[in-house]
Amino acid sequence: MIRENISEVKERIIRAAQRAATDPSEITLVAVTKNVSVEDMCRAVDAGTTHIGESRVQEALSKYDHVRAYASARGIALVWHMIGHLQTNKTREAVRLFDLIHSVDSVRLARQIDKQAAAIGKVQNVLMEVKTSPEAAKYGFMPDDVAGALKEMASLDHLSVKGLMTVAPAVHDPGEARPYFRTLKELLIRVNELRVTNYELRILSMGMTDDFEAAVEEGATLVRVGRGIFGGRKER
Ligand SMILES: *Cc1c(COP(=O)(O)O)cnc(C)c1O
Repeated sequence: MIRENISEVKERIIRAAQRAATDPSEITLVAVTKNVSVEDMCRAVDAGTTHIGESRVQEALSKYDHVRAYASARGIALVWHMIGHLQTNKTREAVRLFDLIHSVDSVRLARQIDKQAAAIGKVQNVLMEVKTSPEAAKYGFMPDDVAGALKEMASLDHLSVKGLMTVAPAVHDPGEARPYFRTLKELLIRVNELRVTNYELRILSMGMTDDFEAAVEEGATLVRVGRGIFGGRKER
């Protein structure tokens, strides 16, 4: 099933990208593996998954070595994404495990990450999580605060902000999530125009099982799909 699901999700991404006249190869599919067993994660790797998303450090830690070894024995280097809320006391492990942390929601957390990354000589790639709707998510910067926070974060030597992430509210019709995706895309353009950083922010992490096609049509460069690949009950 996992193999079929992955190819179906990939086909839907390609069709959505074509509708938006964007290059499907520019869109990264992150397989979200929270509550997914290592066996199923390895099946996903066999089916071509290279990007793994976890929402809790502790859970990622418990599966990381096994899945990484499984992939690397097959010549595959996995890319690990932290997509859930990150507590400051978990930053040390997070910096050790993850290639991209999507959920930076305060300058304080950014400073912690920078400090831990410095300690191991790493530059940690991160996204800024944005609250595109007041009711959707508990965490994230308010859109108006992003530019100012980015300015502070840009001064951190061991942190590199690559883009923005959002979680849209759960909706009945995926089309209803569009305004939130559009808000994030417009924010990315605006922040780039302000030239807060001396490079462009390029990643837009948005779209989940129920709304990833709408997200791609609105400019997502990275979608995070869990249930659509591994099945399971709805849980946000
Ligand atoms: C769980 C989760 C996902 C995946 O959700 P599905 O609906 O299973 O696709 C994506 N992003 C975040 C932040 C999540 O916590």
